[in-house]
Amino acid sequence: MKPVIFLLVLFPILGFSQQKADSIFIKKISDEVLLNGKAYEQLRYLTKQIGGRLAGSAQFTRAVEWGRTTLQSLNADTVFLQECLMPNWKRGGVDKAALVSVSNRKQSRSLNILALGNSLGSGKKGVTGNVLAVADFDELENRKDEVKGKIVYYNYGFNATNLRPGKSYGEAGVYRRNGASRAAKYGAVAVLIRSLTEATDNHPHTGAMAYNDSFPKIPAAALGLQDAEYLWQLCRQNASVQVSLSTFGYFLPDAIGHNVVAEIRGSTNPKEYITVGGHLDSWDVNEGAHDDGTGIVQTMEILRTLKALGYKPKHTIRFVLFANEENGLRGGDKYAKEAKLKNEKHVFALESDGGGFTPRGFGFTTSTDKLKKIQAWAELLKPYGVFELTAGGGGADIGPLNKTFETPVAGLQVDPQRYFDLHHAPNDVFEAVNKRELNLGAINMAALIYLVDKYGL
Ligand SMILES: [Zn+2]
Repeated sequence: MKPVIFLLVLFPILGFSQQKADSIFIKKISDEVLLNGKAYEQLRYLTKQIGGRLAGSAQFTRAVEWGRTTLQSLNADTVFLQECLMPNWKRGGVDKAALVSVSNRKQSRSLNILALGNSLGSGKKGVTGNVLAVADFDELENRKDEVKGKIVYYNYGFNATNLRPGKSYGEAGVYRRNGASRAAKYGAVAVLIRSLTEATDNHPHTGAMAYNDSFPKIPAAALGLQDAEYLWQLCRQNASVQVSLSTFGYFLPDAIGHNVVAEIRGSTNPKEYITVGGHLDSWDVNEGAHDDGTGIVQTMEILRTLKALGYKPKHTIRFVLFANEENGLRGGDKYAKEAKLKNEKHVFALESDGGGFTPRGFGFTTSTDKLKKIQAWAELLKPYGVFELTAGGGGADIGPLNKTFETPVAGLQVDPQRYFDLHHAPNDVFEAVNKRELNLGAINMAALIYLVDKYGL
């Protein structure tokens, strides 16, 4: 047999035995997580003992300390902190809104609102005004002469025909981020938005907004969907609907925060890094369970599991609890900046920040060639519920790494149908997380990290 033919015959055999070894190791990962996993109990501590942990809060500082000691207890080779400055926004009080009158007849009905993150409050006196309810920015522009002195309400909701609610979130998000300044430009005194959700309950959903410095910085809040629907119908049927609202948001000087980083040092390529992480901060109004406590404890679980199985990675694997994703992204920026300063080589980064629900796949931002290489591993992940290895995806915190080095990045993709029922709302609590779903996410992430470490990209 000529050598070249011999090789052609041998390669599939080698491939087969490799695949067998990989499938055995991934089953070991799975068994270890399902039998001995600590993620769920860690999540209980993070959500119940520490709770909501917005950048600049005492809880965030506690979460950093907890993150550091927990990663140390999992026998990481090193654990260190990366300091960064974070915006320090305070809600400042209990946000309130109420209907005052309808067609000049007194009415009183309280409305369930939450001020948007980074918005400035009305103060104690509050803001009272007639509501101009618009479907979208087009209607606002068409009716700009009616805006002065009014509270603008944007009824832009999720498009129910989108099969992935994340797409709707992307489309509607601009109203939360930019709605206040777009209305302030024409003299609005405050804005309300329809919460970015399709939930049938009445919880308002907060989230980051930003002002355009050219216009007055007016109060901005989100309405729960039952109240949003009520207000919309009322405004469509009545000439004048008056609402008052009080919000109290303000900024303190930037606060010092930290990314928490743990490493398992690489055996053959220690100066090449694979990063896996989630974000440690959350909004102040909930326990930050699905967003993103689950990503944090999955990250810790991958470290624990690889150590428990005695895995010696080729590359250095970094487990990162990022600071300040929600209202600043300063942690993700800092991580990429440090990497650039130290001229680090980053092979791959993975984030879990879509909730701790049943995994379905991974979305990748990388070249077609690399994606093809990854897709060849599909059969290895299928038993654990991951069927889709597709283009497009990553995570906010690892975005700067991709931007700086074109590092291939990926995001864990989970069953997306329930996430926006609780995202940034008071019901994002520990009880909303299922232990097996959470663990399955960690299993698939660990398996992907193992495959990237073994075969490179
Ligand atoms: Zn998040």
